[in-house]
Amino acid sequence: MTLSSSTDRLASLRADLERRNPAEPEFHQAAREVLESLAPVFAARPEYAQPGLIERICEPERQIIFRVPWQDDRGDVHVNRGFRVEFNSALGPYKGGLRFHPSVNLGVVKFLGFEQIFKNALTGLGIGGGKGGSDFDPRGRSDAEVMRFCQSFMTELHRHIGEHTDVPAGDIGVGGREIGYLFGQYRRITNRWEAGVLTGKGQAWGGSAIRTQATGYGSVLFAAEMLRGRGEDLQGQTAVVSGSGNVAIYTIEMLGRRGAHPLTCSDSEGYVVDEKGIDLELLKQVKEVERARISEYAQRRGASAQYVRGGRVWDVAADLAFPSATQNELHERDALALVRNGVKAVAEGANMPTTPEAVRTLQDAGVAFGPGKAANAGGVAVSALEMRQNAARDSWTPERVEAELTGIMGDIHRICHETAEHYGVPGDYVTGANIAGFERVADAMLAQGLI
Ligand code: GLU
Repeated sequence: MTLSSSTDRLASLRADLERRNPAEPEFHQAAREVLESLAPVFAARPEYAQPGLIERICEPERQIIFRVPWQDDRGDVHVNRGFRVEFNSALGPYKGGLRFHPSVNLGVVKFLGFEQIFKNALTGLGIGGGKGGSDFDPRGRSDAEVMRFCQSFMTELHRHIGEHTDVPAGDIGVGGREIGYLFGQYRRITNRWEAGVLTGKGQAWGGSAIRTQATGYGSVLFAAEMLRGRGEDLQGQTAVVSGSGNVAIYTIEMLGRRGAHPLTCSDSEGYVVDEKGIDLELLKQVKEVERARISEYAQRRGASAQYVRGGRVWDVAADLAFPSATQNELHERDALALVRNGVKAVAEGANMPTTPEAVRTLQDAGVAFGPGKAANAGGVAVSALEMRQNAARDSWTPERVEAELTGIMGDIHRICHETAEHYGVPGDYVTGANIAGFERVADAMLAQGLI
């Protein structure tokens, strides 16, 4: 296949995908990026271009949508929608988080599940791709309400998951508290102690050390690798971080540990810029203990911190940027501001936080850009290590898990880098990640026949 005929084939595939999956813009965006990366692979390796392979990769193996009824503390009834998209199991059981957020719909879950296929392949840990969640909004809900919601959600989900079938974990709106309630209900319904059915569990009952920290730690490790390729390290670099959830908090922690200066965090209402560097303990107190807004951080921190309501964290000048909130949060104008301020590297802690135009702007300006499927793979990688510990009824020390995580992020960086070089686009981690992930999944699918 020539390069131009593979480009044509992929363009018609894209048109078909958009027609068959209407009103799913996030899924279209995620699929488009991968399809655009694949033209040189199709040209070089005809076995990958054979009819049906890429079509199967773009079609989830199974999509489950279900009703989730629950009662609030006043006795009022609510009906939410639950999703689990089991996208691809060529490399292992479906693996991916659950997101509880009002913006969740089928298209969002499909984009996340699609990304997860390639991300999980890059970890090399034998996990397929899936994702799920609900349009339930946990904000402002009591623990009892969250528990009743989780129990109702699991009452349906339990029949679809299992340690060898599909292993959910957390994502936005789903942390240790929610995983606890979900696990409890699974255990009650099935009467099985099946630790490996969920990851992100509490450490006293089967969870892995460092799982909470892993996504944020991993994205800093990935940024460090990108900088190393340019003869630099993290020491003394300033960083803007968006978000204030689990990913942002542990990105900030690892930046501090590596001698960098994280200056910001944000939530949906605004951002904090702290010229002394974000005070990690205060941020954890506000977000993890009190579940409050970050404006509260600025109020308590004193003179060094400023709260900017409605502002954009990307306007703050820094050497590094870590978009760690949610999809499409970093637009072209933000990328232009980052470039103007001399940013050197951007690592995506969130899934698809950078719009396609912004990615192009950053790459054209020579900024090292680490896409989420590579840079934020540390979270799901430690989930796979949690599954490994559960299968062996073992529990590893934090030092051991962190050492494994560091090795895995180094390997992911290397394979993305080498693949980009091999296909003639050195330094393009987006293409490198997409192709390297694709090749692993495609090889397994070809070997396993037409299923
Ligand atoms: N939600 C995380 C992600 O986007 C983690 C998934 C998992 O641990 O299964 O990769």
